Amino acid sequence: MGDTAVRVENGVTEKGVEEELQFATITAQAGFCKENFISHTGHGKAICTASIYEFESLEEHMAAAHTYRRCGHPNSDDMAHAIACLESAETGLATSSGMGAVVCTVLSLMKGGDTVLVHADTYGGTNSLFEEDVRRFGMNVEFVDVLDVVALEVALSRCKETDSGDGRVLVFCETITNPLIRVADVTAISSVCKRFGALLVVDNTFGTPLRSKPLLQGADLVVHSATKFLGGHSDLIAGAVVGSNKLVEQAKAVAVRWGLTISPFEAWLCTRSIRTLQIRLERAWTTSEKLASRLRDEKHGILAVNSATKCAILSFLVVGGLHGAKTLIKTLRFIKFAASLGGVTTTVSHPASTSHAYLLPEERERLGIHDGLIRLSVGIEDFEDISNDLLRAIRAAAAPTPDK
Ligand SMILES: *Cc1c(COP(=O)(O)O)cnc(C)c1O
Repeated sequence: MGDTAVRVENGVTEKGVEEELQFATITAQAGFCKENFISHTGHGKAICTASIYEFESLEEHMAAAHTYRRCGHPNSDDMAHAIACLESAETGLATSSGMGAVVCTVLSLMKGGDTVLVHADTYGGTNSLFEEDVRRFGMNVEFVDVLDVVALEVALSRCKETDSGDGRVLVFCETITNPLIRVADVTAISSVCKRFGALLVVDNTFGTPLRSKPLLQGADLVVHSATKFLGGHSDLIAGAVVGSNKLVEQAKAVAVRWGLTISPFEAWLCTRSIRTLQIRLERAWTTSEKLASRLRDEKHGILAVNSATKCAILSFLVVGGLHGAKTLIKTLRFIKFAASLGGVTTTVSHPASTSHAYLLPEERERLGIHDGLIRLSVGIEDFEDISNDLLRAIRAAAAPTPDK
């Protein structure tokens, strides 16, 4: 195969992205490389399912990029490389899921006795990972409103006071919160973290690298649930960690030991999907912004709308609480009720009974995750169709019920 270690393709090198290529070019070229591993004529790489690799000599084995699939394979390299380019990272690691990515970062950076400050309303799975497992492994876990820089400073000073000397502090947050769509000021958060010598890991799943690049704003590592926008078609589960060579290598060692690496098919599918990331996102963002303003204009039936520019997720509060939410979901025609998000089809979810069901009712109320809150993941269908379906359901939810 010759020198497969050098990967320079279409101006995109292993070190990152050369200045002149734009996001649209980088995404469209994801995974297209000249040294196609199996077929020299195919436009794009084949799926390499081998779990073992064979060698003529010990020397060849020792110099090989791949030996056993859990430790890495060509499709995983392509996906990791593509996401690292999108995030302007030195390197990347593809994982079996978004949760796999979060686990790798925490286990590689932290040890028993260290402290993790987790943003109070992160993704439910992340929250319970910290609450259940990270705590059980002997780390101090505190839930803080990391997006409130003053609250973060207070929490970090408290850590400093109680620290016996060698304890590490890790701050974990998301670029945009779910389901209330609060946007993190990563630059401000990272400068506070740096002042206190704390590490910062940012989940950029909702932000997407087209909107925000947390590494350029001072984050130490970025994680993704590629299951969402990067995959984009609701047909794969995958994750990624990107950052400096040193930290990603450490995360990769954990992923290999704990079996959190990705399968060839999922990696191939994800890389394929990334090629349309920008056009999918731009379309969904435009629709989402138009929908948010139409929902705000809707005088009856909606109590609040949470949205941000360049974000395909929005949430709104319907009147009638749980009953209103149930009616809305039942009345929708083509918009489906599904717990996940980030696909080409528009879906709704009910955070209080799905992603945030693990919280106590009073805790949900305190955070603003009321029973009437609906989260919308905007797809790429026609704007008027989405809007009509949604407004019809909102009006049905707001209509007085005969039995009341
Ligand atoms: C879905 C999600 C995760 C978990 O990802 P999986 O791919 O389901 O493991 C983590 N963070 C955020 C923000 C998510 O939306």
